[in-house]
Amino acid sequence: MMEWQVQKAVTKLQSNRLTAILKVQSAMMQEVHDYMHEKGLLQLMPVMISPITDPLNHSVLEGEISYYGDKLQLTKSMILHKQLSLLGDREGVYIVSPNVRLEPMERGATGRHLLEFTQVDFELKGKKAADVMEFMEALYARIFAKVKKECAQELAFLGRTLKTPHFPMKKFDSAELKRTLGSDWEKMVSKTAGDPIWVTNHEREFYDKEDLDRPFTYLNYDVIYPEGFGEGLSGAEREHEHPRILERMHRNKMELGPYGAYLEVAKAGLLSPSAGAGFGVERLVRFLCGAKHIEEVAPFAKVPGGKFVF
Ligand code: AMP
Ligand code: MG
Repeated sequence: MMEWQVQKAVTKLQSNRLTAILKVQSAMMQEVHDYMHEKGLLQLMPVMISPITDPLNHSVLEGEISYYGDKLQLTKSMILHKQLSLLGDREGVYIVSPNVRLEPMERGATGRHLLEFTQVDFELKGKKAADVMEFMEALYARIFAKVKKECAQELAFLGRTLKTPHFPMKKFDSAELKRTLGSDWEKMVSKTAGDPIWVTNHEREFYDKEDLDRPFTYLNYDVIYPEGFGEGLSGAEREHEHPRILERMHRNKMELGPYGAYLEVAKAGLLSPSAGAGFGVERLVRFLCGAKHIEEVAPFAKVPGGKFVF
């Protein structure tokens, strides 16, 4: 007799349900690669350890390793590396990027948090929020069409009726939503929205650009999936000028020391204006498949607060 947690893992790994979900994921990722290639973005391989990573706007447990006395962080996102990768004559980059975020155990119940997940993370030089929105909506349209066409059997097996979203997607301002719906606005709009929506203007990390014409308004955006699936993508126009970056780091009460090399590059005026976004692969697969918990779509899911066997 296997120990029950091992048995549970084996049952999942053997299941036809996981096969159907992985077929949907494969079709989706094929479309992502085709699209990025057609649009001329260059694929970067993932950075998984570095002296710096995304400071994030919410707290997670530290994921740090020591290498001959040097501290290296496990990648939370490649945002800073994406910006740096545009130093050369490159118009756009993308990465299928493994991220480790040691989320507090309460987040196990959200149905959309894992300790390790994968982002499709992209950055476009010289582009604005509106360009990224258009770029992403075209990609969503292609993914939905591909999955509905090639995975009709799998979707039927999963009991999923997948509705093609309406484009262009509607846009809402987060401050406005907070005013009208209160602090739980994200949950409420996700439950009631019939289609994915854009929510703009979130107060968060230093690298999301502030609109200087409207101080304390931010040129960033999230996609909220309908049916209660919640946030699926975050992105922004980026701060790239040294004084602005410093101002925003100070506002977020950040320690500058660890970002010394990044700040040197910014001070030398080498960063370009850019905009981009990242969407969680597992979250989109969960939405496409109509899975109750993100755990179902990751073969070796690490749910915050859970027990891990593989
Ligand atoms: P962020 O920039 O922090 O919003 O992360 C980008 C995207 O990654 C989010 O919009 C989600 O789709 C996905 N994501 C973030 N954190 C997690 C997590 N703990 N588990 C699964 N997916 C996540
Ligand atoms: Mg986010």
